[in-house]
Amino acid sequence: MATTRIDDGLHTALRARGQRVTPQRLVIAAAVRELDHHATAEQIHTAVAARLPGVSLPTVYATLELLEEMGLVRRVATESGTAVYDPRTDEHHHLVCRGCGAIADVDGAVDHGALLRAARGAGFAPDAAQVVIRGLCASCAAAAPSAA
Ligand SMILES: [Zn+2]
Ligand SMILES: [Zn+2]
Repeated sequence: MATTRIDDGLHTALRARGQRVTPQRLVIAAAVRELDHHATAEQIHTAVAARLPGVSLPTVYATLELLEEMGLVRRVATESGTAVYDPRTDEHHHLVCRGCGAIADVDGAVDHGALLRAARGAGFAPDAAQVVIRGLCASCAAAAPSAA
């Protein structure tokens, strides 16, 4: 298995949190990177099954939650409510298709500070702000009856 930068970062991050560095955690983190797109826990589970025989889906979920807490993956809000994990952790936003469920990255300036302040003003304790633009992807829009 190729040693990647994420592994080094992961070792450090896990130790800093008093978490054990386990092969499962390393393989799951590497799989998220290798998939290199937004993936559900089920897809990640499938991707690691060959390398981690017998690994359970709840273990994959728990590991993804840990990686999310450590800021190594991001969770994307989706149409269906299914958790989708994103290996890209820099600031970006998402297009979510209500037709096929496709998720794509979109970059654009957003005033996070203002959103987070507004959230706090409402008595909310925000973790992070993330913009989801809902609609139809290009192929669903092309297939849709001409309502535009
Ligand atoms: Zn679509
Ligand atoms: Zn993304």
